[in-house]
Amino acid sequence: MTWLVTGGAGFIGSALCHYLADVSDAPIIVVDKLTYAGNRASIEGLEATGRLRLVEADIVDQSRMTDLVAETRPAAIFHLAAETHVDRSIDGPADFVSTNLGGTGAMLEAARAYHGGLSGDQRDAFRFVHVSTDEVFGSLGEEGAFRETTPYAPSSPYSASKAGADHLARAWHHTYGLPVIVSNCSNNYGPRQFPEKLIPLMILKCLAGEPMPVYGSGLNVRDWLHAEDHARALLIMAQTGTPGETYCVGGGAERTNLQIVETICRLMDERFPEAAPHQRLITFVEDRPGHDYRYAIDAGKIHRELGWTPARDFETGLAETVDWYLANDSWWRPLQERVYRGQRLGRTA
Ligand code: NAD
Repeated sequence: MTWLVTGGAGFIGSALCHYLADVSDAPIIVVDKLTYAGNRASIEGLEATGRLRLVEADIVDQSRMTDLVAETRPAAIFHLAAETHVDRSIDGPADFVSTNLGGTGAMLEAARAYHGGLSGDQRDAFRFVHVSTDEVFGSLGEEGAFRETTPYAPSSPYSASKAGADHLARAWHHTYGLPVIVSNCSNNYGPRQFPEKLIPLMILKCLAGEPMPVYGSGLNVRDWLHAEDHARALLIMAQTGTPGETYCVGGGAERTNLQIVETICRLMDERFPEAAPHQRLITFVEDRPGHDYRYAIDAGKIHRELGWTPARDFETGLAETVDWYLANDSWWRPLQERVYRGQRLGRTA
């Protein structure tokens, strides 16, 4: 029995691989194209101990994916590979359409061919866990929260491509009986997140003493969940979730972007008092085009039905994350040199 993780060299995918290695003995197979967002350093420790094998491949490659799934015979496929950076989806949406729609279609077809050949307990136990985002639901006002019945209203090329992928995943369940489970999760944070996302970007800007660029007024609200809590939710879904169901996953930690940045500044003041106050680095910049105002998740269903709740409180998790970036410059410095230096992306004009 193996676990097959697409996108396992990415942020949440690598958190899932580390979690699976901690709690199970099954071999882990990662399929990842190692795009700018994929980082072999995030999983090389697991590769070195023989717990994980990386297959460098594009999920859009249908015949390769069909062969890979047949050869590795997974107990579950965790499908996380995606183009995920909203600002990049504004600059260049084509890869988002190709990977998020075409790649998801190819993984579903590969899983369908494999599942069709299974019998008995193996067939009953197999799951395809499709990992999606709360961004497919669009934007909330001051009140309310997304739940499994909320209609889709995506607003960025990223969220629209993820919404399309979710529809494909559900259609493969309804039409072909593929045991698909869909997860719609809120913003994740934690170690090994690509430094273009809010939290690592702000930590590294703050550390460098550079302006910390806050979009618009900084009042956009996100609900934050530690990636390890997300990983635990995904395994629970694979083991006890109901095929065909969707589960909304969230941390119950709503914060404005500005609150996040101010908290990072406070944590950095404690660690580097000689450079305090770091808040002087906060700089308001032109907003993201079409920036959704607020996301919030009602995670009641996964709590009631599968017994999942987040284990880490946000303030502790954020402080640990700051410390992880401070201790692991060998992970992020090469990315700054080779891939992304913290420049502004995602402006339409
Ligand atoms: P990420 O960008 O850090 O990682 C994506 C991984 O997919 C990378 O390793 C990349 O190399 C790989 N990849 C991209 N295109 C590929 C292709 N064509 N073939 C094979 N591999 C490819 O993303 P993440 O933040 O870890 O997100 C993982 C999943 O979780 C995504 O599906 C995303 O939509 C979803 N999600 C993310 C968040 C979040 O806050 N980051 C929240 C909810 C859901």
